[in-house]
Amino acid sequence: MSSGSLAAPIKGSCFCGTVSYSLAGRPVLSAYCHCTNCQRLTGCPFVLTMHFKGTDFTWGHAAPHEAQLDFYTIPSKPHKTRCRCKTCGATVASYNSDTQCWSVWGGQLKRGADGGVDVWDVVKPTAHQFYGTRLLDVPDALGKWEGYENRSARLD
Ligand SMILES: [Zn+2]
Ligand SMILES: [Zn+2]
Repeated sequence: MSSGSLAAPIKGSCFCGTVSYSLAGRPVLSAYCHCTNCQRLTGCPFVLTMHFKGTDFTWGHAAPHEAQLDFYTIPSKPHKTRCRCKTCGATVASYNSDTQCWSVWGGQLKRGADGGVDVWDVVKPTAHQFYGTRLLDVPDALGKWEGYENRSARLD
C-alpha cells in the first residue's frame, strides 16, 4: 500500500457523532488484528485496524480536545494514547508517539447509501495480523501472520 494524497479525505466518527476525524492520505497499514489487546479493549474477536501518517490525521473539532475526548494509555505501551468520545464512550483513534502514526478502525469509517465503507478500495485490509491469538478462523484469501504482515512468521 503506498502513501499519497486522495481526491477527497477519508472520514470517520464515533458512535454518536460528537467526535469525527478526516484523513488526507492512504493507510500505511490496514489489517484485521487478532491481538489480545484489541480483543480486551473492544470485546470483539478481532478488529479492522488502520494506521495513517500523523500528518494525514485531523480532528473534526477545534482544540482543546479535552472538551470532547478523554484519554487512556495501556500501561505496557506508554507511547500509545487512545482517544475516547466523552459522550458515547467509543474509542475513535489512537496515537503512537514512537511511529508518529494514528490508528483508526474500519467499523467507524463513513458509510455510503448501501451501508458499505465509502472508500473501501483505498482502505481495505491486506492481512490478518497476530492471528495466533485468534478467537475465530477466517478462511479468506488474505495472509495470516504471527505479528505484523511481512515482519513476522507467516501462519498459512
Ligand atoms: Zn461519541
Ligand atoms: Zn491488535
